[in-house]
Amino acid sequence: MAHVQRMSTTMLRTLRDDPADAETASHRLLVRAGYVRRTSAGVWTWLPLGKKVLDNVIRVVREEMDAIGGQEVLLPALLPKEPYETSGRWEEYGDLLFRLRDRKGAEYLLGPTHEEIFTLTVKDQCTSYKDLPVILYQIQTKYRDEARPRSGVLRGREFQMKDSYSFDTTDEGLAESYRLHRAAYARVFERLGLDHRVVSAVSGAMGGSRSEEFLAPAAAGEDTFVDCPSCDYAANTEAVTAVVASSDPSGHGPMEELDTPGTPTIESLARHLGVPASATLKNLLVKVDGEITAVGVPGDREVDLGKLGEHLAPAVVELVTAEDFTGRPDLVRGYVGPQGLKIRYIADPRVAPGTAWVTGANKPDTHARDVVCGRDFEVDDYLDVVVVEPGDPCPACGAGLEIGRAIEIGHIFQLGRKYADVFGLDVLGPQGKPVRVTMGSYGIGVSRAVAALAEQTHDGAGLCWPREVAPADVHVVAAGKAAQTELASALAERLAGAGVRVLLDDRAGVSPGVKFTDAELIGVPTILVVGRGAPDGVVELKDRRTGHREDLPVEEAVARLA
Ligand code: ATP
Ligand code: MG
Ligand code: MG
Ligand code: MG
Repeated sequence: MAHVQRMSTTMLRTLRDDPADAETASHRLLVRAGYVRRTSAGVWTWLPLGKKVLDNVIRVVREEMDAIGGQEVLLPALLPKEPYETSGRWEEYGDLLFRLRDRKGAEYLLGPTHEEIFTLTVKDQCTSYKDLPVILYQIQTKYRDEARPRSGVLRGREFQMKDSYSFDTTDEGLAESYRLHRAAYARVFERLGLDHRVVSAVSGAMGGSRSEEFLAPAAAGEDTFVDCPSCDYAANTEAVTAVVASSDPSGHGPMEELDTPGTPTIESLARHLGVPASATLKNLLVKVDGEITAVGVPGDREVDLGKLGEHLAPAVVELVTAEDFTGRPDLVRGYVGPQGLKIRYIADPRVAPGTAWVTGANKPDTHARDVVCGRDFEVDDYLDVVVVEPGDPCPACGAGLEIGRAIEIGHIFQLGRKYADVFGLDVLGPQGKPVRVTMGSYGIGVSRAVAALAEQTHDGAGLCWPREVAPADVHVVAAGKAAQTELASALAERLAGAGVRVLLDDRAGVSPGVKFTDAELIGVPTILVVGRGAPDGVVELKDRRTGHREDLPVEEAVARLA
């Protein structure tokens, strides 16, 4: 039996006005409807209704993780420095890490993601190939000192993530664990009612080979992706910037990392582009002497090209680079246009496999010289990708590509043996010899998913939750007299008795108009109004999403909802 949540006793204060700093619908509406409250930059309090929605998302994620045999654990968020030093990420993460010291001066961090600690946990617990495969997951608070925490819970500095890790002894085993996660994620987002696409993704700081993202198309998203309307080809436009060391079919020597403190800084770029220095740049694709290449911007700062683009007329942008970078103090040309990522090429099809070029190295102040297509880039995943202009041909089937903005809601990686190598994670194999373990890591932004849902489902009047995540099934509004409140209350109890989750607006001294406005804002899927018709046993049922309303006898309304 569900219980009735009474608004008269719920800590819930809706706001008429948008928060001043809110740029996105989810930010505005989640604050105005009383779901979340900002505590400090990128740090949020989940109020009673918000906590219910978050818990619903978590329940779905947990069910689907359990269904693929995931075992839930809870590792600490407060982590010792050493494992992250061993993996190199204490350095690599740069300013993104929250670092702190204990009273004795020992250094710690607040976990941004947990590959290191999970690897050590399995090393501690599993000794034989018989102990594997294993999938472990947790739902936990993560910490990242994001450069631009904004858009409410879409990008927090403290946020909730489901992260899981698979441990296998064979490559086939890893492929299967990855496949299981991919399918589980599709089911999760399906059940949550999130429109989503699976796209090829950058491996970034994680290293490793195969990686895909789950993107929720939304104008407020910070990712840009290409999508083919005629086949299943889709890729994040970030995908090109991954530099993945792999085999060397070209016969070139190893690529060389360059210290390039003289490459364009945020400030020099900003000067060139005529935008404020507070704009930041991530990976800008440029042309070096006729050849397309990429420029990483020093530091872990990211550029929102969308924002940058707003300030610019379509134009070729010229950047002066250090001699070290290009091998000649030439002009480097790049393209930035008005509609966000107007950089023309993710990769240029004219750059044939085997061509050496210069690229960002996914490390602050570093670029790589003699990067070889097909060796250092996964040609299939990245370099065959062509364009960022709508209508440009899909590399898979030739149809006109579409370009969209989206929110990254999930990310799956085949890490391979990277962390197992770093920490010496072996188990005893069937022949009694040690076998190196291979890993995958998989994340869902559960708090971000709440915001993504709000972005995709809201309308002009407020939030419109899909039933699976809504804070209640039915919002019963007692519109008017005390008698109606009594009837509404009795009805609410009956529905709850039948297992329906009910939010009851039984507030005294609040006008029906305000109650209706709040019900629309809060966004429970069905609104049941106990109003003028009540003395005759008639109530109104309203579908929040479609706006469809009908008057029904009480018994019929109950039968329909219960
Ligand atoms: P983004 O590109 O948005 O910064 P990410 O690629 O850094 O995300 P991952 O390391 O892949 O994130 O983490 C797994 C998931 O955690 C992401 O797919 C996203 O849904 C979520 N996530 C990451 N950063 C944040 C954040 N700052 N606030 C809320 N959710 C986040
Ligand atoms: Mg990030
Ligand atoms: Mg990302
Ligand atoms: Mg990611």
